[in-house]
Amino acid sequence: RDMDRDMTPVLRFAPSPNGELHLGHALSAGIGYRMAKAAGGRFLVRIEDIDLGRTREDHVARILDDLAWLGFTWEQPVLRQSTRFEAYQAAADRLLAAGLLYRCRATRSEIDAVIANAPNLRDPDGAPLYPAAALRGRGHAGDAPAALRIDMGQAIQAVREKLGGRPLTFQELREPNLLSGDVRTVEARPERWGDTVIVRKDTPASYHLAVVVDDAFQGVTHVTRGMDLFAATDIHRLLQVLLDLPEPVYHHHRLICGSDGLKLAKSLGSTSLASLRAAGARPEDVWARVGLGE
Ligand code: GLU
Repeated sequence: RDMDRDMTPVLRFAPSPNGELHLGHALSAGIGYRMAKAAGGRFLVRIEDIDLGRTREDHVARILDDLAWLGFTWEQPVLRQSTRFEAYQAAADRLLAAGLLYRCRATRSEIDAVIANAPNLRDPDGAPLYPAAALRGRGHAGDAPAALRIDMGQAIQAVREKLGGRPLTFQELREPNLLSGDVRTVEARPERWGDTVIVRKDTPASYHLAVVVDDAFQGVTHVTRGMDLFAATDIHRLLQVLLDLPEPVYHHHRLICGSDGLKLAKSLGSTSLASLRAAGARPEDVWARVGLGE
């Protein structure tokens, strides 16, 4: 029995409650849910509400209502990241004590000024890398709010030592099917992200830190999410190794684009599940629109 439980796959859908769910969320939740059910696994919903200023309780309630309407069931209680700041703090403290994070008090305009004067590398999302060399030492003085950035060079060195020279990789399922065993090994290249923020100035966590701490805390074995987070997996694997957290298997699924070819923004009213429901759509219509119909 214990053995069975240890082998049970655990999947999660982890929306951020700063807008309405849209068709892209339905696809993401639908893929995770079907993968879990097909493999006899567990399905969790986690509310990623570290962004306290942008979280609205009515959004949380509507997200859960939309998910129930779509026909999902999930385990209770629903974990809310806003209750987990101590755990994120403990993880950050560990990285700080290992000399892998540093305080950064540079303001957005100071960073932008340096970037404007020198062409800079960009991260996989297209944002300029933090100009660490030009701003070195910025942030030790004063008591203005500080972010904690990872010292990417040191972190990669620490990972190399931990892995005994083996490359940092992750396993990516090619198909949304846990039982297919069809995985490819992807080499993670966290250096592409530079000295990225691990603890924000305005909230004591970051998406990257919270997601790895909670996936481990909840025993998530398979992380399913959109292709837009594929490159971020590099940072997640780096943090998992540095924090001695288990390695989940990943599946990054296709994204649904609007008629303009752009990724669906949470603001696109016409594809929100609320507006589709109000227009009389049924769950079957949603599944047909996202390509998960019969
Ligand atoms: N909360 C993230 C989002 O809404 C997803 C996090 C994840 O699946 O890793 O985009």
